[in-house]
Amino acid sequence: GREKRDYSRAASVQKCIRAGGKHNDLDEVGRDGRHLTFFEMLGNWSFGDYFKKESIEWAWELLTKVWGLDPNRLHATYFGGDPEKGLEPDLEARTLWLSIPGMTEARVHPGNMKDNFWEMGETGPCGPCSEVHVDLTPDLSGGPLVNAGDQRVIEIWNLVFIQYNRGPDKNLTPLPDKHVDTGMGLERVTAVIQGHNNNYATDVFKQIVQSIESLTGHQYGAKASPVAGHADNRYARFSIDDMGDVACRVIADHIRTLTFALTDGAMPDKDGRGYVLRRILRRAVRYGWQHLNLHEPFLCRLAPVVVEAMGDAFSKLRKSPARVVEVIREEEESFNRTLDRGLALFENAAETAQKHSGREISGEDAFKLYDTFGFPRDLTEIMARERGLGVDHAEYDRLMEQARQRSRAAGKGDADAFAHVDPSILAKLPATEDSAKYAASHTSAALRAILVER
Ligand code: ATP
Ligand code: MG
Repeated sequence: GREKRDYSRAASVQKCIRAGGKHNDLDEVGRDGRHLTFFEMLGNWSFGDYFKKESIEWAWELLTKVWGLDPNRLHATYFGGDPEKGLEPDLEARTLWLSIPGMTEARVHPGNMKDNFWEMGETGPCGPCSEVHVDLTPDLSGGPLVNAGDQRVIEIWNLVFIQYNRGPDKNLTPLPDKHVDTGMGLERVTAVIQGHNNNYATDVFKQIVQSIESLTGHQYGAKASPVAGHADNRYARFSIDDMGDVACRVIADHIRTLTFALTDGAMPDKDGRGYVLRRILRRAVRYGWQHLNLHEPFLCRLAPVVVEAMGDAFSKLRKSPARVVEVIREEEESFNRTLDRGLALFENAAETAQKHSGREISGEDAFKLYDTFGFPRDLTEIMARERGLGVDHAEYDRLMEQARQRSRAAGKGDADAFAHVDPSILAKLPATEDSAKYAASHTSAALRAILVER
């Protein structure tokens, strides 16, 4: 209640990236059908206006009446309470769900703190939430699979009821005004409406997947079986055994993320949010390289497909697509140079690890992969996990810290790299003309001098 707006209700579509920080779904992407690194979240909000009753009834109305989803497939969860933390179950939400004609006790489930209590930070507004899940099993037997991480029952919507404030002393006090913040994944609900059990089967993704097929010759879904109870075509199938399919999904997702984030002005970088992008790009390149035989830059060729597929909805994508393509190409080229040699080193490291009882990639190898070949630590980790191996983190961290201290001792960082060069030499260098960096074409340059440190 500290701030006032001139409206008390809102509806939104937010671009979301969940590939770092508190929400990090990166590892899941491609291996399951419902987590993307980039998705659009639909939401409706009440700022001290309507509360649980309206948001539950309206959610039901939109899903079953407007979009025509089968009511018998819909399950709801409510916060089941947490006696240890002194929190009561949200029986109000339960009662509201049960008062909807056609809703049954068997389809209203209590949930725990992790799934059904929303808190963004250590302190601040928070409260119980209530989720809608869709049972996609052919015989409606999915009840026990709610919140079980099973592809056959998918969470599509989360209704958050903001009714408490968590103070610095960790105690909860009721808020003077109650608020609603809901979030629904556009891609997930599209999948359900179109009769599928995964995001990639929808027309949101088809064009991108098909472009990957034409680049590679890989036939998506060709080795997978039809999903029981769903309309069948190659693109609707889902296999995690066919690594070519996994790679198609990883690439289709990651190129969307990259195209949108670069369009919005973010850049791949060595730390912060830029590093999140660099990691996403490298993960896509690595999957393409290993599983689809893509050894030349290919993401830059797919960015225009995203622009084509989504430019009508997001006109900004059409503003300077050439710049986006070029940034991606440069990143890919520099990563490709090291990837080949890095993968060879990883193979050796993995073989050695397999022979040892600890079954861990040594900290030294993991660090070398990072330091010399630009493999982010989690990339090494993911690749190790695929082989049933771990990584020696303690040793890796020690070497990392050592390297940091070395570079600190060596100077104040990159900005001062020229600090020891005689100013009279620097004075002879012309200013860098780097406008070509932002153009789509290649450029040529004359090498004028090489500075050798002695
Ligand atoms: P899950 O348990 O499936 O990871 P979540 O509990 O993290 O979902 P919320 O944080 O409640 O999801 O987000 C609200 C909605 O946004 C979800 O119901 C879902 O429809 C969608 N959503 C969340 N994460 C993703 C993702 N990585 N990719 C696509 N949609 C997502
Ligand atoms: Mg999640």
